Amino acid sequence: MTAYDDTNIFAQILRGEIPCFKVYEDDDTLCFMDIMPRTDGHCLVIPKTPCRNVLDASDAQLAAVMSTVRKVANAAKAAFDADGITLQQFNETAGGQEVFHLHFHIHPRHEGVSMRPPGKMGDTDVIKGYAERISAAL
Ligand code: 5GP
Repeated sequence: MTAYDDTNIFAQILRGEIPCFKVYEDDDTLCFMDIMPRTDGHCLVIPKTPCRNVLDASDAQLAAVMSTVRKVANAAKAAFDADGITLQQFNETAGGQEVFHLHFHIHPRHEGVSMRPPGKMGDTDVIKGYAERISAAL
């Protein structure tokens, strides 16, 4: 398996080298908004320690990340009055992964509303407001 490369964008966010809209943080994990949101409230949960994805993550990293995923998913569902939550998680390029630091996507979902296509930048003021909305529900 390819080694972890700490120049990836999420490692830069963890080091504070580039900004993010933070939703939640504890000793082991960080949750922040996706800048190309495919749903209103689309956010990402990452471990604070390095691993590429589920394939090289430790049990402790996965346990910490999943605990935060559950916490934030419930808050996002309440904040957006969502009918459900979609989780996405991709492993390696062939599996659809683009940023090689383990992350889970959290998407609030509403009946009959499709996810938007990937790759389109969101409005930063709107994304900031959504981060505050989920944080307030935590
Ligand atoms: P994946 O690796 O799961 O395919 O997708 C990586 C995700 O990271 C994408 O949804 C993309 O929009 C998001 N992303 C890429 N660059 C940045 C960034 O600089 N900041 C934030 N907050 N999200 C990013």
